Amino acid sequence: MEPNFQHAEPFRIKVVEPIKKSTRAERIEALKGAQYNAFRLKAEDVYIDCLTDSGTSAMSSEQWSAMMLGDESYAGCKSFYKLEASARDVFGMPHVQPTHQGRAADYIMAQYYAKPGKYALGNMHFDTFHGNAELIGAIPQDCVIDAGLDASSAAEPFKGNIDIAKMQRIVDEHGKDSVSVIIITVTCNNNGGQPVSMANIRAVSEFAKKYDIPVVLDSARLAENAYFIKTREPGYENKPIKEITREMFSYCETATMSSKKDGLVNIGGLIVTRNDEFFTYANQMAIVHEGFITYGGMSGRDMEALAVGLQEACTESYLEYRINQVKYLGDRLKEKGIPIVEPTGGHGVYVDGRRFFPHIPQHEFPSQRLVVALFEEAGIRAVEMGACAFGSKDPVTGEPIWPSLETMRICVSRRVYTNNHLDCIVDALDYIYQRRDSYKGMKLVYEGPILALRHFTAGFELL
Ligand SMILES: *Cc1c(COP(=O)(O)O)cnc(C)c1O
Repeated sequence: MEPNFQHAEPFRIKVVEPIKKSTRAERIEALKGAQYNAFRLKAEDVYIDCLTDSGTSAMSSEQWSAMMLGDESYAGCKSFYKLEASARDVFGMPHVQPTHQGRAADYIMAQYYAKPGKYALGNMHFDTFHGNAELIGAIPQDCVIDAGLDASSAAEPFKGNIDIAKMQRIVDEHGKDSVSVIIITVTCNNNGGQPVSMANIRAVSEFAKKYDIPVVLDSARLAENAYFIKTREPGYENKPIKEITREMFSYCETATMSSKKDGLVNIGGLIVTRNDEFFTYANQMAIVHEGFITYGGMSGRDMEALAVGLQEACTESYLEYRINQVKYLGDRLKEKGIPIVEPTGGHGVYVDGRRFFPHIPQHEFPSQRLVVALFEEAGIRAVEMGACAFGSKDPVTGEPIWPSLETMRICVSRRVYTNNHLDCIVDALDYIYQRRDSYKGMKLVYEGPILALRHFTAGFELL
């Protein structure tokens, strides 16, 4: 093989956005003002923002120039047809309904596929679908493989896979009519941006066919999932990314997408489907809630940017850079002995809060404490995905139920930060890790009414 000296980013930087450095005293004030909730901090007070990868991508010169072509006609605009063609190409699905964000697609999908008192099975449901299901009175049930709930199971390449036996048990116990839909989230955000294998998507689809249950893919990170299939699943190493994405979606009847992730844009969502009846329903629901069928709450220029972004996200040189940048952060943290979810996933590194702060019990929010420490030391914003975000309550006794995974997610925005920025995160976490014994836990002092969404508005105090 020829040596490869072209291992840097497959782009250069044309526009820059200054970020503000801060003092520890300013950061402590900001934390107090936000009740120690990262969602309530002002973005301008953040030095490196790893709260989420959602809507934070840097667009390309191709995308910015496409935006000038935006056709803002109410009905039948050119920009819609470009988006439709691009989405058909990537998903291999005939029908395309834009929405203003992924959660609007979730909402419309949930109204059709989730039913009161019936199970919605999945690997791990995303929180906005969870919230929608909660409002409908459906029972969202996670059926991810056990290894997916074990932060240290580093040898498992597809920790987003669904355990078919867990679904079988529910069908055997409650009957096939107790399940109204199976939703596969690719990649699986809740346990580390972990991919789902093609073999597993195929097996879920066969299971569902047997019991006549529809399958939906929640596909915000479809290109990252396809890249993991290409690099980890035998038989796919020589297939182009779009051939892999099309095969993934050949096993479901409908998919939703938050285009704020692998769409490489700052806003937008999609519903794609091969179910004619659902498409008609989605068109009607879009008109009531989103906008006319051919824009669904998106402007023409945003649809132009998305049409281009979907294609760029499926480019191999981009994905290679993307997945390996996130892996770089994971590898460097591991070198420092910092416990992370392994293997590193697609859109961020998840630090294991329990192993980081073994002396802080889960009901005192160890991962949230780490979020606060990282901001206090370095102005770096990450997010808790543990006791607060995924804690639930026993429906009968109201007793808290603590989640199996207790992590702090460090999201890496697409095409935004350099490895120098990532090195700052490593240095700050290393510093905190060496002083880990000096930290105490936190107390939850405010939560909103919808449990699945409490992390967005929660308030804390330091113990
Ligand atoms: C982000 C996301 C959503 C919600 O999409 P928004 O665009 O934030 O409304 C739904 N599902 C998954 C898997 C997501 O990552």
